[in-house]
Amino acid sequence: MADKLAWVDEELQALKDAGLYNHIRTLGSPQGAWLEVDGQRALNFCSNNYLGLANHPKLVAAAKVAMDKYGVGPAAVRTIAGTMDIHVELDRRLADFKGVEAAITFQSGFAANLGVIPALVGKEDVVFSDRLNHASIIDGCRLSRAKIIAYEHCDETDLEQQLKDHRGTYRRALVVTDGVFSMDGDIAPLDKIYAVTQNFDAVLMVDDAHGEGVLGKGGRGIVDHFDLHGMVDIEIGTMSKAFGVMGGVAAGDAKVVEWLQQRGRPFLFSSAMTVPDVAACLASLELLEESTELVDRLWANTKMFKDELKKMGFDIGKSATPITPVMLGEAQLAQEFSRELFSAGVFAMAIGYPTVPKGAARIRVMISAAHSTNDLEEGLEAFSTVGKKLGVV
Ligand code: PMP
Repeated sequence: MADKLAWVDEELQALKDAGLYNHIRTLGSPQGAWLEVDGQRALNFCSNNYLGLANHPKLVAAAKVAMDKYGVGPAAVRTIAGTMDIHVELDRRLADFKGVEAAITFQSGFAANLGVIPALVGKEDVVFSDRLNHASIIDGCRLSRAKIIAYEHCDETDLEQQLKDHRGTYRRALVVTDGVFSMDGDIAPLDKIYAVTQNFDAVLMVDDAHGEGVLGKGGRGIVDHFDLHGMVDIEIGTMSKAFGVMGGVAAGDAKVVEWLQQRGRPFLFSSAMTVPDVAACLASLELLEESTELVDRLWANTKMFKDELKKMGFDIGKSATPITPVMLGEAQLAQEFSRELFSAGVFAMAIGYPTVPKGAARIRVMISAAHSTNDLEEGLEAFSTVGKKLGVV
């Protein structure tokens, strides 16, 4: 009998032939400035561990203490098995940190977007979505069955035109944007998006995955960065990046959060965050509330690294955050650059089509507060050597 799944082999081979197959490297160490990658010690420029919290002793200790008290798993969804007091505490503490009425946690940022968007809009409604929004926003929009209208990237004038042309046809409207775009490191003009949106009876939602713990006072995020407190209806966040753990959050009005507890499907049909996740997130919040030191160091590191790369002649695109794309153009060149860096002990991934447009392949460098000045200098040296060897600078 013919193999019903033969097509999978063909598809996998096609990905390999096109240079689009994901080869996943294996880590033999905790996250940090340095990693053991496929058995080799390497300087880490890949992870979203912005503040170096993924292996912070306070987070690890908090997780252990909580496991001694509560065990490991929540054993079912919160609406069925009840919700542990530490989950309630995390929801409340996240709301306080963001300066909003209430917050609700999900298992991940991806799950938060899948849960929130379909709870806010349905078949009779419309979503205006930045063309470069994250996959989880795109999937959340598709699941909602609302009409999806993509507006040009970070372009509030196009958003306004789309709202003028289409808002009237639909019952409810949602405007949704990433706060920081993960491939270019640019920041959505949320103040301008807010100004446009408020004229059209549309709910405004921002996914602050890469802004949380990074932008705003002490890492309070993009809403704080633009001083838009009370103006953005719903903020999505993830605890998998600056917080160093795992989990997603939606924060905003108490009634919206109450609605999400009733209608957010990943909340209702998937178990809650695990005990060590929750405890470690609480410890992250404590560190962020205690001091701005880590956030300040992240920005100082970012400035130093980007300034030096520019001086060397690299094109770092439109980045305004620690996400630093080193623009190289063709995918093959980016892959070769990444391989050369790895031989020099630097782990930095090449990113090509379809994650970024054709001809816009790059190395994406993720700066962290965990990097020392020496680490950054070593990384810069490798970029300089490889850049010259491959004729980029
Ligand atoms: N939103 C954005 C903008 C992201 O970049 C990511 C992670 N890549 C997510 C959501 C998903 O977050 P998580 O890893 O917590 O699922």
